[in-house]
Amino acid sequence: MSTTWHVLGAGSLGTLWATRLARAGLPVRLILRDPARLRAYQAAGGLTLVEQGQSSLLEIPGETSTSSTPIQRLLLACKAYDAEAAVASIAPRLAPGAELILLQNGLGSQDAVAARVPQARCIAASSTEGAFRDGDWRVVFAGHGYTWLGDSGHPTPPIWLDELAASGIPHEWSTQILTRLWRKLALNCAINPLTVLHDCRNGGLQQHQCEVATLCAELSELLQCCGQPAAAQNLQQEVERVILATAANYSSMHQDVSNGRRTEISYLLGYACEAAARHRLQLPHLQQLQQRLVNQLQQRGLPSA
Ligand code: NAP
Repeated sequence: MSTTWHVLGAGSLGTLWATRLARAGLPVRLILRDPARLRAYQAAGGLTLVEQGQSSLLEIPGETSTSSTPIQRLLLACKAYDAEAAVASIAPRLAPGAELILLQNGLGSQDAVAARVPQARCIAASSTEGAFRDGDWRVVFAGHGYTWLGDSGHPTPPIWLDELAASGIPHEWSTQILTRLWRKLALNCAINPLTVLHDCRNGGLQQHQCEVATLCAELSELLQCCGQPAAAQNLQQEVERVILATAANYSSMHQDVSNGRRTEISYLLGYACEAAARHRLQLPHLQQLQQRLVNQLQQRGLPSA
C-alpha cells in the first residue's frame, strides 16, 4: 500500500502536483485552509488540470488541517510567507519519520519550517515548472520544466522518487540543493524587482544593461561571501540569457504587483540584503533596489515584507 501524499495548498503548484500524482493512481489528500474552502472545493467536485488545451477533473479527497489522520508525507505548496504558519497547523499530525517537501521559492522559509518540525525530514525543492489558476480549483500547466529536490543535511534520496517518475513529474535528486536555491534567488533578485520598478516585461531590461550588470556583480560578491561560489559562476551571463529567453514574459513579481497580490520579497531580495548585513558586506545598489521596491509596494498599499 502506497503512502498517502498530503498536499497542503490547492494553488497553482499544489494542484499541478496533486493532479499528476492522483492521475498515476497514487493516494492523494488535499489540505485546505478552513471549512469554508473545503465546502467550496467539495462543491466543485475536484481539481481540474488544463494541459495542452485538454481539461481533466480529478476527484481528490479534501480535508482541513484539523482532520485527525496522521501525515507521513506532506507536499507544502503554499507561498513562502504562509509556510511556517501552515506547517504549525498540521505539526501535531506528523507521524514519526514524516517527510516534508517544501516547494517555496527563495530562501528563509525552509529554515523556519524545519525549526517548527525538528522531528520531520524537510526536503527543499527548486522548480522551473510553471502553472497558473484560470479559475477556482483549476490550474493551467503553462511551462514544462524540472524540479530539483534535496536535503542539505542528508544526501540519501527518499524512496518516493519512483512515484514522481511514474506520475510524469520531471525531477532530479540534488546533493547541492542550497546552491540551486541561491542561484535561483540571485537570478530573481537581478531581474524581478527591476521589472516592477521599470514596469516592463523581462525583455525590457535590455534597455537597462548597466543596472543589471552592477546588480550581478554585487550578487556574485554576496554568493561568494555566503560560501556559494558555484552559484556565482557566470551569473551575469545567465541573467542576460534568461532576459532574452523570457523577453515576452512578465516576471512573477510583476504579475503579483499588477494584480494587487502580496509578493515574496522577504524571501528573495529581503533575504539577500539581510545576508549581506549579517556578513557586514556593503552592497549599495542591492540595498537601494530593496528600498525602491519597498517604496513602490507601500505606494500601492501592498505588504513590503
Ligand atoms: P498559489 O497559487 O498562491 O497557491 C498557494 C495556495 O496555498 C493557495 O491555494 C492558498 O490557499 C494555500 N494556502 C496558504 N496557506 C494555507 C494554509 N494554512 N492551509 C491550507 N492552504 C493554504 O501559489 P503558487 O503559485 O502555487 O506558489 C507556491 C510556491 O511555489 C511559491 O513559493 C512560488 O513562488 C513557488 N513557485 C510557483 C510557480 C508557479 O508557476 N506557480 C513556479 C515555481 C515556483 P487560498 O487559495 O485559500 O489562499
